[in-house]
Amino acid sequence: MNELIRVTNLTKLYPVQKSFLDFIFAGGNREYVHAVDSVSFSIRKGEVLGLAGESGSGKSTTGRLILGLIHPTGGMVEYENRDISSLSRKELKTLRAKIQIVFQDPNSSLSPRMSVGEAIEHPLKIHRMGTKHERREKILGLMESIGLTPAGFLYKKYPHQLSGGQTQRVVLARALITDPDFLVADEPIAMADVSVRAMILELMKTLKDNLHLTYLFITHDLATAKYLCDRVAIMYLGRIVEIGERDEIFSYPHHPYTKALLSAVPVPDPGQKRKEKIPQGEIPSAIHPPAGCHFHPRCPYKMPECSREKPLFKDISQSHMSACFL
Ligand code: SF4
Repeated sequence: MNELIRVTNLTKLYPVQKSFLDFIFAGGNREYVHAVDSVSFSIRKGEVLGLAGESGSGKSTTGRLILGLIHPTGGMVEYENRDISSLSRKELKTLRAKIQIVFQDPNSSLSPRMSVGEAIEHPLKIHRMGTKHERREKILGLMESIGLTPAGFLYKKYPHQLSGGQTQRVVLARALITDPDFLVADEPIAMADVSVRAMILELMKTLKDNLHLTYLFITHDLATAKYLCDRVAIMYLGRIVEIGERDEIFSYPHHPYTKALLSAVPVPDPGQKRKEKIPQGEIPSAIHPPAGCHFHPRCPYKMPECSREKPLFKDISQSHMSACFL
């Protein structure tokens, strides 16, 4: 399979806002939030790559960097082997139609003043696609195909008149209306109740196959990553600590953080004991991340070198890498 997206040493630092006095007391040194720290991976055409980790690990920032919604501090994003920072304005506009995002909270990502039809039409207007009649026909066709039925009736409805499942489908339709190749799905089911979650996951799977889509699926929930993803990358404090084929990650996790996350996934058996210890404490501050392995203050297996050196990726198998000294 060909690569669609390649990310190399992607880094995002946010300067910490300080008062003038704090700045002087800090000796004039600026501090930065290390949101994304030298992240590298690729996504093949037709693949679903899961980006998983606790909140604050840098997953959503990575997704926004890939889409060009925020500018990286360093590193590169390539789409079909072209560095997106080298594209002209016109090329970038064309690319924007091909890469889309589904946000976490459908209610806040839809304008309450726009009807369903207007919300789905909006990207078509931005990209000046089709006549008014063609746009309406396309929207109604897409609504039918993703289960927003009866399409003619729902077309005129407003977000507050829809159920949770319908709202999530409208957000999906808005992302799909420009015929994208690549979708960043940022916790697309996090706000949905359990019955809607299953429906949306199933729909995303069907759409991927029918429309030949490629996904970056951002989630804190490993159970959904296991269901939808072909490969999974685990992020911790801005870095990817383990990446591999889904079955490898779930059957033979290597990194202690991955093992701990997997052991925290609920299983429907009250008698089953956890195999791994849950990491102690919170994710450390991203302003002053721990030296060496970022995970060492919480790791039950830490060794002297863990607090001194950054562990590099090593191959666990042909399709599985982990950044750990163990
Ligand atoms: Fe734990 Fe050391 Fe591995 Fe980091 S490198 S996960 S601290 S054993």
